[in-house]
Amino acid sequence: MVVVMEERASEEQVQHVIAQLVEKGFDVHRSTGQLRSVLGAVGGNRSFDTRLIEVMDGVHEVLRITEPYKLASRTFKPERTTVSFGEFRVGGDEVIVMAGPCSVETDAQISASAAAVRKAGAKVLRGGAFKPRSSPYSFQGLGEEGLRMMRAAADAEGLKVASEVMDVSQIELVARYADILQVGARNMQNYTLLRELGKIRTPVLLKRGISATIEEWLLSAEYVLSGGNTDVILCERGIRTFESYTRNTMDISAIPVVQKLSHLPIVADPSHGTGLRDKVTPMARAAVAAGADGLIIEVHPDPDKALSDGAQSIFPSQFDRLMAELRIIAPAIGRSICLDPVARRGWGT
Ligand code: PEP
Ligand code: MN
Repeated sequence: MVVVMEERASEEQVQHVIAQLVEKGFDVHRSTGQLRSVLGAVGGNRSFDTRLIEVMDGVHEVLRITEPYKLASRTFKPERTTVSFGEFRVGGDEVIVMAGPCSVETDAQISASAAAVRKAGAKVLRGGAFKPRSSPYSFQGLGEEGLRMMRAAADAEGLKVASEVMDVSQIELVARYADILQVGARNMQNYTLLRELGKIRTPVLLKRGISATIEEWLLSAEYVLSGGNTDVILCERGIRTFESYTRNTMDISAIPVVQKLSHLPIVADPSHGTGLRDKVTPMARAAVAAGADGLIIEVHPDPDKALSDGAQSIFPSQFDRLMAELRIIAPAIGRSICLDPVARRGWGT
């Protein structure tokens, strides 16, 4: 941390700040220029509240130079992390696509979704059995029955399963059926949930909170990592801004920003990111072009009848076309994307 003193700061004020820093465990190096003193403080606690210094008399500005998170940072681990589940991994050269309906609704709906997304090249079937709905009167999900249906549909197609866990009490149940546990945007700061997810070894897909800064998001990842679960995948899903033409504002720039700050893989969700079916394809293309390690996309066999998020769910035919386009975009930036799903699964040989 660097503490810049005011030009007119008295010697007594400088000494007071130094004493405070030393008391908080920092080593202080002072440089005195012609106009002002600058204090370099090293050591101390990563979570130190810099405002305690900022409010002291004679202080002009306090600049933090180390990130408040540690395990999630590139400083701690310079090489990229890959998160594996079965034969797939996120964070390597291959862009992994997760797709499926917002919610599991019926056996027929989830089976049709699984078949469609697998055929187009998705590796993971997404679908919620516990739904965090803004209204308590909206469809809340099928619970365990939905998980069972989704697991069966995914197994029939050789897909992995990603599903949301909303509460500590659901972890054990959802982990029995899913390969990836999704923490929804509304729960990004549910620290009790994050701590518990740190204790298990199932990969966690951590969505960015609706109004979370990237720093807050990485601090949430830190909760899971510090519990010992190193398999965290970040997911940009749009943030709330003043713009009203889209449901959320999809922050594509978060992808390169996160990749510079953190070694964790990051995927993008253009469905919640925009909230509108016709915006999903362009933003999915953009996310891959920006370097996303994967995508999570809502695809429904009959979106207009979907029990949740129908307006942002794309038709299987649109998903097919998108995947074909991504197979052109990904290689342009040195990534691959499911070149031949049938051959990769050993079928048709
Ligand atoms: C979802 O994936 O269906 C979902 C509810 O996502 P989010 O938490 O990003 O709103
Ligand atoms: Mn949804």
